[in-house]
This record gives sequence, structure tokens and C-alpha cells, in this order.
Amino acid sequence: MIVAVTLSSYIYSKNNKQRMYYKNIIDSSSNIVVVVDKNSIIDVNETFFKYFNKYKTLEEFKMEHKSISDFFVKDDGYIQKENNGKNWLESLIENPKNNQVRIVYNSKEYYFSVGVSLISPKDGHYSAIFSDITKEKLYQKELEHTNITDPLTKIKNRYYYNVQIKKESANANRYFYPLSLVIFDIDYFKKINDGCGHDVGDNVLIEYTKLISSHLREGDIFCRIGGEEFALILPYVNKADAYKIADKIRAKVEEHKKIFAITMSFGVTEYIKGEDLELTFKRADKALYEAKNGGRNRVVVR
Ligand code: GH3
Ligand code: MG
Ligand code: MG
Repeated sequence: MIVAVTLSSYIYSKNNKQRMYYKNIIDSSSNIVVVVDKNSIIDVNETFFKYFNKYKTLEEFKMEHKSISDFFVKDDGYIQKENNGKNWLESLIENPKNNQVRIVYNSKEYYFSVGVSLISPKDGHYSAIFSDITKEKLYQKELEHTNITDPLTKIKNRYYYNVQIKKESANANRYFYPLSLVIFDIDYFKKINDGCGHDVGDNVLIEYTKLISSHLREGDIFCRIGGEEFALILPYVNKADAYKIADKIRAKVEEHKKIFAITMSFGVTEYIKGEDLELTFKRADKALYEAKNGGRNRVVVR
């Protein structure tokens, strides 16, 4: 891409014959190349029309759109059409490291990394080269998803729990809101495996995590932290409300009775500002232990 930017800036300013060369070079690029000033598009290469395939010429495109940035999707960490009163080109010139863009066209999603270069200081013309990184981006997203997802139940895994509890406790400290933790475990789960087989045990895990997920709110963080042990991180929820939430889940599980009738035991605690997270977890775990010892299918708060 650097070579293309340098070449285009050199040739662009030359005479007509060299302009032909320039045109040939940018047309042979598999990247989208657009020549722009701060307000409009001046030229594009052929690859541009492979993506924006409704249009055959730049004139057609310009009848409907002023800028390629009309297709930029607003998303954190990506270049936006406009940000703090600056258009995308100005933002990119000022901060070339933040150079990724998400584009949706014809219901298809693309990711590009964009390089800009001033090719005609006299006219204020820039070339912007859009390299398609969609494949890499989707692979990276899939990898991120795999890293934090439990393969059996598709809820979040223990790694995600560890990351999120740290993040949420830091936020709770900083912004002074309550944070509760619920640890829960299926009662006598071993009996299902022993009596009906491991596959039935697996299906019970899938069925009941789905049930619980359907009763959670958007900000609740539900993770499988062990074989048949779960954690629920509840930001903005105090101990008394966490008890109510846990008891609602307990009742839903008890009345569900699908695949195999099960119950669960729950330990609930509230994070105390500034305390070591180990202590929070131990308190919730101790409460769970008490719920088991107290007869199971119950919620204990500590
Ligand atoms: P308690 O009421 O005290 O929790 O008894 P329990 O039988 O549920 O507890 P225990 O820890 O004795 O047994 C848990 C069992 O969960 C043992 C293990 O084989 C099973 N298990 C752990 N992970 C999985 C899994 O992914 N699939 C299945 N089917 N079983 C699992
Ligand atoms: Mg158990
Ligand atoms: Mg267990």
C-alpha cells in the first residue's frame, strides 16, 4: 500500500501521458483507490465499482452520494463519517493510526484499512487507499468469540468471568454503584450422569442455561465457571435485589422440569468496595456451600 500511495502521489502531478500510467496503475490495484478533496470525490479506480456495483461511473455514484463515507458504519474504534466536527479525511490525516473502517453496502459488511496521502498540495487532493481486511477481521472476531464462549452451552466461559469481574469491580469502585455476585451449582448432577448417561447430562446443561439466559437482563453476565457451576455478575444490583434475582432463577429452574427435573443451589454476595476479588468469590462460594448443606434448592446470602 505504501508503494501505491507514493507512486500515485508522484505520477498524479505529472503530464497527461503520465496520468494515463497513473490511471492504469490505480485500476490494476485490488484496493479501492479514491482521489478526494475535503468535500468531494474527484476520481476512483475500477475496483471501487466492484464493491459499489450499483454504479457504473463516478457521475452515477455522485448523483446519489457525496462521499464514500456515506457507507461508513458508526462503531467504536472505526473511522466515522464525522467526528467532533471533523470529516473522515481530516480525522485520518490527524490520526493515521486509527485507520480502520466498517462499511455496509447492499447488506454486506466489509472492513478496510485506509491510507491517505496528499497527492496535490496545490489542489488539496488526497488519495485514499482502502485495503479489504474483511477476512482477517471476521477471523479475529471469531477467535475472540471462541476464547470467551463455552463450547457446550454457548454462554460465556470462566476466562470471560475472570476478565469481567475485574472490569466490573473496577467500575463499581470508580463510579460508586453496587455489584453483586451469584455462584450456583446443579444439585445432585452426578446422579443424572450416572443414571441416564453423560449425553443427557450435557443436554440438561444446555437446556437449563438457555432457560436461565432467557430470564436475564442485558447487563447481566452469565458464565459457566465449572462443569455444572455457574456465576452471574450483576452490575448495579445490591445484595437484596441479587437475592430476588437468584431466587427467581431458582424457582424457574425448579418448575421447568424439561429433559430431567433438576434444582440448583445459590450463593449470593455483594462486592465490598476495594476488597480483594478472591474474598468476594470465597464469600459467595461459602454461601453456596451453606445452601447445599441447608438442604439444596435454596439461596443463601452472605
Ligand atoms: P451437589 O448437589 O453437591 O452439587 O452434587 P453433584 O452431584 O452435583 O456434585 P459433584 O461435584 O459430585 O458432581 C458434579 C458432576 O458433574 C461430576 C461430573 O462428572 C459432572 N460434570 C462436570 N462437567 C460435566 C459436563 O460437561 N457434562 C456432563 N454431562 N457432566 C459433567
Ligand atoms: Mg452439583
Ligand atoms: Mg459442582
